[in-house]
Amino acid sequence: MGLFALFSRWPLLRQLRNKDSTALGETAMSARSEKLAPRTVQADKVVRSICPYCAVGCGQKVYVKDGRILDIEGDEDSPISRGRLCPKGAASFQLVTGTHRVTDVLYRRPRAMQWERIPLHKALDMIAERVKQARDSTWESHDDKGRTLNRTLGIAHLGGATLDNEENYLIKKLFTGGLGIVQVENQARI
Ligand code: SF4
Repeated sequence: MGLFALFSRWPLLRQLRNKDSTALGETAMSARSEKLAPRTVQADKVVRSICPYCAVGCGQKVYVKDGRILDIEGDEDSPISRGRLCPKGAASFQLVTGTHRVTDVLYRRPRAMQWERIPLHKALDMIAERVKQARDSTWESHDDKGRTLNRTLGIAHLGGATLDNEENYLIKKLFTGGLGIVQVENQARI
């Protein structure tokens, strides 16, 4: 490349020539980056979703190819986030694909030093048995003045901001209406 051609590619000159004061347009491109294409162009469909990490609820576009997630980007149509994602939301692709993700139920027996893998259906049965046992053993039908209580103080629930309105509705219905648990709290997702 000649000296003039080299000089004319100087970023400041390209900015002035292209009237690109922020250098976010073509000025920022190199010969190599001009040929690059985002992997999202390979997607055969895009599914709209919500970032699962926090109460802000930023909109996401999930790019899918052959039934597998290819990438996750911000949704510019979301009135909440208008295409933006914070570093956590921008990294949620690895929430699905990360090799460190735990996909088995791990159980550590009382006083055991090691975790063991158990089937999901067994874990759910164990949880159900413990909930029933805790509820039965702490059930209060009346107070000492004979007034109706029908509650248990033996179980409490603390939800997280990733729970959405519908999940919180069902949790409250099951725990309070169904099981008589009164200590049901949540970090609100507004
Ligand atoms: S992208 Fe960040 S701010 Fe938005 S919902 Fe996810 S974690 Fe929250």
